[in-house]
Order: sequence, then structure tokens, then C-alpha cells
Amino acid sequence: MKCDILIKNCQVLNPDFTISTDCSVAINDTIIVDIGKIKEIEQKYEPIEIIAGKGKLLMPGFIDGHTHTCQQLLRGRVSDEYPMVWTRYLVPFESNLNPEDSYISAQLSCLEMIKSGTTAFADSGGVHMHRVADAVIESGMRAAIAKSTMDMGSSIIGTMKETANEAISHTEELYKSYQGSGDGRIDVWFAIRQVMTCSEKLIRTVVEKAKEYNTGIHAHLCEHKDEVSFCLQNYKKRPAEFLNDLGALGPNLLTAHNVVLSEHDITLLSTKGVKVIHCPRANLANHGFPKTPRILESGISVGLGCDGAAPSNLNLFDEMKVLRYGTMAYWGLTVFDPVVLTCSTLLKMATQGGANAIQHGDILGKIEVGKKADLILINIDQPHITPSQVLVNTIVEAADGHDVTDSIINGKIVMKNREVLTLDEEKIIAESKIKMKKIISRAGY
Ligand SMILES: [Zn+2]
Repeated sequence: MKCDILIKNCQVLNPDFTISTDCSVAINDTIIVDIGKIKEIEQKYEPIEIIAGKGKLLMPGFIDGHTHTCQQLLRGRVSDEYPMVWTRYLVPFESNLNPEDSYISAQLSCLEMIKSGTTAFADSGGVHMHRVADAVIESGMRAAIAKSTMDMGSSIIGTMKETANEAISHTEELYKSYQGSGDGRIDVWFAIRQVMTCSEKLIRTVVEKAKEYNTGIHAHLCEHKDEVSFCLQNYKKRPAEFLNDLGALGPNLLTAHNVVLSEHDITLLSTKGVKVIHCPRANLANHGFPKTPRILESGISVGLGCDGAAPSNLNLFDEMKVLRYGTMAYWGLTVFDPVVLTCSTLLKMATQGGANAIQHGDILGKIEVGKKADLILINIDQPHITPSQVLVNTIVEAADGHDVTDSIINGKIVMKNREVLTLDEEKIIAESKIKMKKIISRAGY
């Protein structure tokens, strides 16, 4: 039988986080068509391309559930700065981006994500998202992209603020141009930047339009105390209650951060099937510990996000480690619970949790026959990983983005032996340096 790609003689991470050895995996078109023992698969298939899997672990690609590709060229700027980083750096930076800046920024983001094992992401949106979509299509990645929408807030937001009608019509234009493009890899979503900068009218219209187009909504929620305080002062409701009363809580809503959730908020999000994303480094550095064990216990699907490269990088291996040790120190140690957040739970967040968040839990996040071939290979034949008595634990505690050798997305090889085949790495880095300088001079900081 013909098949497009055969990954030969690898170990495979199963959906239940056990590992099968001596396997081969056949991919045809965009789909995983067979998984079995090496000999059995070899006898059945005549592949067009073979990827050597010896000494490697095949895993589902990581899915970054909350990022901002437009902030990539702000890298290094916002760390160790005094408040308000949002008004001093983020707003002047984002409002001075032109379409080509957004394009290069997204290219550099995709390059970094592919090289760190991420195969899909949700971009909560900046400006010029049509150029972000172009970059994602070229990169071979999968993404749910939104255009940042704000119609309230201080005058500092400037050009980023629009009327509710403008904000909606710009997303509709993006949807009509890009939904399903890149062989179905691009989804266009609506966005609620956060409750402090979106009016009731805007939120209600976003909810209606997302329903009409049968697509998702990406929001920042309960990121910090100021947001909760704003909502209580203005609406006498907490942010989750406020969004619920406007009809926004539902299975198509992805909320990023979720740090300052009350018990009632957790029950609301759980009942409504909202998909939660934590951004551990951003959260722990700025706003505190999310109640991750409690949120998981409520049955909510939890994923992970890097929240853009401005303060760190786009590497979900790092996010898993930070959340693991932070949660153990804060929630586990205090009550002597050594299994408060296990390695397999963290891997589930980075794969299945992300897949659920981008509304593709049915086709992504697991290595199974019939699922989309969005896969990564990790070189485990290295002294920091092999030998291991429980490989899943070692992958979370010791492996890193640099250990990812190959990446396949939608059945196409996008990275082979750490060379990204879809993007010109040298050119993108050179152009990024030039663009960064120009943006800084325009933004004037
Ligand atoms: Zn964010």
C-alpha cells in the first residue's frame, strides 16, 4: 500500500501517556493511517518518504493555547521594568507596528515555535493579522488567529482602540479572507481582549458573530486583581459572571491566564465548558499562582501558553517545568501532596489541553489512527534523557525544545534534523534585527 511518510523504528507516546517501543507510523495525506510494530508496518506500506526514528520518541506536537506573535520583537524589553509596562512599552510598541513588522514578527515566532516542538497555536491577536495569517500559511503551522478588539480604555491605547462596529467588521473581513486557508490550517476567531477594554455592546456582538460563523472566541480572563476590581466597581460582578451574563461563556470560549478565579468562577467556567489556558511564566512573574489543581479537579480542560516572547520565549517545555515546580511549591508542599501536578498531566495540558482549546480536540493532540499528523520527534538518545526508568517523567523534567529534531504538521514535514524547511531562518533573523531597530525608534522609548 502507498503512503506519504513512514516514521520507522521509534518509540510512541500513547494517548494514555504510556510509551510503546519498536513502532513505525504511517502517514497518508494529512492523517495518521497506521501505527504498529516495525515489521508489520514495513510489510504493508511503500512510503514516498522515510523518517528514521531510531533513538527518538514520537509525540503529538505541542499546542500553545495563548500567544501574541506581534510581540516577538519586544523580546527582552519588559523584564525587570517598573510599572506600568503596558502603557510604557506594550501599547507604544504594538501601536507602532506596520503590516511588514507583523509579518516578520509572526515568521520569527513560527520559526521559534517549530524549533521548540510546537505545531499549532492560538494567537490572541494584535494588529495587521492578515500578514500574520500569511506568515503562518507559509510556515506550515496550524493556528487559530484573532484580531485584538478594544473599544474602551484610556487614550494611551490610541490607534488600537476602535468602535465596536469597526472591531467586528475587521474580524469579519479577516474571517472571509482566511478561514480554512493553508489547507485548512488557519481558523479565524473573534477576540475579547479583556473586560476592562471591551464594552458590553462589543462583547455581545462578538458572542453573536462567533455563533453565526461557528468559530471561537479568545479572551484574557482573571489575569490580575485590577481586572476583578474594575468589574466589581463598574458592574458589581466578577469578570466570569459579567461575561456569563453577556452570553460569552461556552465551549467555544478560550480564556487565557485564569489566575484570580473564585470557587464560583471555577464552577461557572466548568459548567459552561470553557477552555482554560495558563501561562505559567507570565502568571507567576506578575499575578500569582493559578489554582491549577482545583481547576483540573472541576473537570475543566486546561492547556498551556507562552503569552508571547516579550518576557521569555515560545517554548512550552519551559512552561511545563515552571508550572510543575511552582505548583508543587505552592499547592503541594504546604499540604504534603507530592502528586499535586504530575508529569503526564502536564504533557496532557501541552497537547490535548491545547487541542481542546483551539476547538480541535477531536483531530489533534493524540497519536491515534485517524488523527491529523501533527507530530514531533524528540532525540532521546542523549545523556540528559537516556536511560530513564519512566520516560514521560524525564521528558517533562529534563527534555527541552532543542531536543526536537523533526516536525510534521498536517502530514507535511516542516522540520527535518532541526532544519526548518518552510522558512528561511537566516533571512528572517537578519530582517527581524532591522525591523526591531526601526520599531524602537518610531515608538520612542
Ligand atoms: Zn496575553
